[in-house]
Amino acid sequence: MQLMEGKRVVIMGVANQRSIAWAIAKSLHKAGAELAFTYQGERLEKKVKSLVEKEMPGSLCVPCDVTSDEDIQKAFDTIGEKWDRIDGLVHAIAFAKKEDLEVPFVETSRDGYGMAQDISSYSLVATAKTARKLMKDGGSIITMTYLGAERVIPNYNVMGVAKAALESSVKYLAYDLGPDHIRVNAISAGPLRTLAAKGVKDFNSVLHVVEERSPMRRGIDASEVGDTALYLASNMSRGVTGEVIHVDAGFNIVGM
Ligand code: NAD
Repeated sequence: MQLMEGKRVVIMGVANQRSIAWAIAKSLHKAGAELAFTYQGERLEKKVKSLVEKEMPGSLCVPCDVTSDEDIQKAFDTIGEKWDRIDGLVHAIAFAKKEDLEVPFVETSRDGYGMAQDISSYSLVATAKTARKLMKDGGSIITMTYLGAERVIPNYNVMGVAKAALESSVKYLAYDLGPDHIRVNAISAGPLRTLAAKGVKDFNSVLHVVEERSPMRRGIDASEVGDTALYLASNMSRGVTGEVIHVDAGFNIVGM
């Protein structure tokens, strides 16, 4: 029997084939999971649907902009009409205004700070609140974070502060949802060239530092994040909740 046979997981955050959410979907799909995808809106509809149709035909695809509670409710209602329960939720969503990533952190606008927190952190709370009603036999919620939550990574700025709130939210959600057998964990991934990463100034030098200084003297591959998500989504991690697991070739342990 495959690790994820009979398990149903909602994947939020595929924009294209480079998305971390897509790498996670591939690992879960290979292990036998049934998947439903949510995408941000009309702009991404064609791209996401054609990717899913090509590689995972039959999977559900529904729009969901996480800044709207109504949208989140509608998306999970649609999923609930097809599935009577879900076993997992992958939240791989973040956003900060380009202007706020281009100035020193001290110059962050009130509006930009709020927006980064809303989309990159609060959206986990909002989706967990809705998704838990479908997690009738318990479940696993997985979100994506980055080392910039724990340490200062130049240029990550407002997003680092949003990720710190996200990591703290993982712990509070894990505490609240534990009695319902719902586990909540985060993966702290090393740098990967994705659409979101394009917004971070000087991203190439972050990649090079990791390649030079990480214990494994290399960067990571998105499939390595996918396989860690598979562990977290499956029964293999049944005793693990409230954790942040680094998939970064060990870079986070290095002082210099
Ligand atoms: P990506 O651009 O492929 O994915 C980001 C996703 O967020 C997109 O699908 C986008 O549509 C979605 N999104 C943004 N605003 C949204 C909204 N209002 N409603 C719904 N969806 C919205 O980039 P990625 O690198 O795969 O990012 C996925 C997650 O991984 C993010 O949380 C990111 O911070 C995190 N992460 C990325 C890296 C990296 O180096 N790429 C490293 C660590 C963590």
